[in-house]
Amino acid sequence: MIDIHCHILPGMDDGAQTIADSLDMAKEAVREGISSIIATPHHNQSYRNTKDEIIDAVIDLNNSLKEASIPLEILPGQEVRIYGEIVEGLNNGEILSLSQSQYMFIEFPSNHVPRYAEKLLFDIQLQGLIPIIVHPERNKQLMEQPDLLYQFVEKGALTQVTASSLCGYFGKNIKKFSEQLIEFNLTHFIASDAHNVKNRTFKMAEALDAVDSKYGPDMVYLFKENAELLVENSNIMKELPERIKRKKFLGIF
Ligand code: FE
Repeated sequence: MIDIHCHILPGMDDGAQTIADSLDMAKEAVREGISSIIATPHHNQSYRNTKDEIIDAVIDLNNSLKEASIPLEILPGQEVRIYGEIVEGLNNGEILSLSQSQYMFIEFPSNHVPRYAEKLLFDIQLQGLIPIIVHPERNKQLMEQPDLLYQFVEKGALTQVTASSLCGYFGKNIKKFSEQLIEFNLTHFIASDAHNVKNRTFKMAEALDAVDSKYGPDMVYLFKENAELLVENSNIMKELPERIKRKKFLGIF
């Protein structure tokens, strides 16, 4: 199994702080059946992690894993907080796609979606890249206006739901919204977004078990396969997105 979103590189953001933390996370990942991880350090107002720095850190961590005989492969990636100059960042070596594929992560602020998001998602696609919106299920505005997410997906963006969200660790509403994203073909990946082995760990096995019991093995296969297709830089599998229908007036009519 491949985990495409993880803060396992030491000392780069609010994930692993030391190499010992990274190795603890790696052992936990292997226990869950994960064989490859795309390391996606934050690149935002608080943390600046450019392409070359990330690639170097990935080489170092892979060496440490080999020395420790932990059977896990780390691939380079980045979690890019949305900002106006992303296209420039792609051209000046600041931004790194996922495992050097055509796919890249875009993170929105947690409480809203910037007005320029739609244009920027379009501009990224003009550069030949496919944006993947990370954890839309935890964005306040998208929870209130899921149609906005539908429009982004309809226009070619992909999305990634966090395993812990599907397991209910971020609360009932986020769990429910995560399930709706699956049911209405509005998400394409499940990833851990693990930061440590304590309160923000992997939960990939648990999430896929939950998907299996609710939607069956085909859905589990789709999510696992999409992570592999991403790493191979192939086209992923996706169904036509649908608008989320909510029974707003339940009980009134
Ligand atoms: Fe993250």
